[in-house]
Amino acid sequence: MKILVVNAGSSSIKYQVVDMTDESLLAKGLVDRVGIPGTTLEHEPVGKDEVVIKKDLPDHTEGMKLVLEVLTNEEYGVVKSMDEIGAVGHRVVHGGEDFSESVIIDDNVVKAIRDCFDIAPLHNPPNLMGIEACQNLMPNVNHVAVFDTAFHQTMEPENYMYALPYEAYEKFKVRRYGFHGTSHKYVADRAASMLGKPYEDCKVITLHLGNGASMAAIDGGNVVDTSMGFTPLQGLVMGTRSGDIDPAIVFFLMEKLGLDFSEANNYFNKKSGMLGVSGVSNDLRDILEAASSGNERAQLALDIYYNRVKSYIGSYMAKLNGCDCLVFTAGVGENGYDIRENICKDLEFLGIKMDTEKNKVRGKEVDVATEDSKVRILVIPTNEELVIARDTYNLSK
Ligand code: ADP
Repeated sequence: MKILVVNAGSSSIKYQVVDMTDESLLAKGLVDRVGIPGTTLEHEPVGKDEVVIKKDLPDHTEGMKLVLEVLTNEEYGVVKSMDEIGAVGHRVVHGGEDFSESVIIDDNVVKAIRDCFDIAPLHNPPNLMGIEACQNLMPNVNHVAVFDTAFHQTMEPENYMYALPYEAYEKFKVRRYGFHGTSHKYVADRAASMLGKPYEDCKVITLHLGNGASMAAIDGGNVVDTSMGFTPLQGLVMGTRSGDIDPAIVFFLMEKLGLDFSEANNYFNKKSGMLGVSGVSNDLRDILEAASSGNERAQLALDIYYNRVKSYIGSYMAKLNGCDCLVFTAGVGENGYDIRENICKDLEFLGIKMDTEKNKVRGKEVDVATEDSKVRILVIPTNEELVIARDTYNLSK
């Protein structure tokens, strides 16, 4: 069976086609600037040249129509007709408390995704637009929702509840949810294989360090704790997000800078983090370069970044009562070996010792700990789309 994986954002649609007979990727692509003048589709069929199509598209339905045309194109398509696609897997950011695993989308699931609009206003509405566009164009196949929050639903109340008046939870569902669950799940599972240990017996700390970043403490496949919270703003320092701060800073700066709610949201989500501190960029590569040529604020941003990750490693080691491995993944975690090295520096007391020569790799599955390191340090490229394809296949075969 071939599975179409769709990740619809507010103005973009990412897609992949995976052949489940051997889990091989047939094509991937991106429609960018949907609903904005200058829409572009970049299609990468495996083994063929990349195709770029520029055509203004008013909405997600028109965007998906173009994707289907491209996928079935005689020259650069990867299927003869859409009948070859057995099911469609959709990335959905927020499943609230209703979903601890992937599900076939029916009216109740659509309602649940809609019910989360309030707590995920930037993500769930475009996710649902993508689902509805695909359902209209492919009414005869299963559509499956794979939630970023689902894997974290194993957390116990002491880890997901905030110390707020209880009504915040009861009336408004204010609690920690956690995100990037599909990625944490994939790498934790791969880590167990690399360690040659049953998944149920592994204690793993996963570090998904991309532009958005989060960590998770996982015991026997169950998430004990994760660093993102009610929204993706909490936790680590990210490209443009502050991560953990004293919440009183929000009220203070709203008053001092005269920010309304939406401006404040923008300030902490889009103008903070590595960009805010360094004033250089949100991209760690630019910041590393600036720091190495003497930019002190870039160096400060990096030091805050490393320090925050270390705090979470310590906290998660305590919560798990030790761990078998750290796993680095996503853009920074897979490629930024200098960043990995700085994070793991001076953690010998916790049994974490990196082989800094072995560590000089990018984007490969590898153990970069020293022989005598008690805790293994793994680099594992993530593959969220494969998890979506697998879950979709398993629910549809
Ligand atoms: P997201 O999916 O959250 O947008 P990715 O996981 O694709 O992010 O990661 C993108 C980030 O990876 C970039 O912002 C960049 O900072 C970082 N990155 C990529 N390559 C390197 C590298 N060689 N060194 C450090 N950071 C890198």
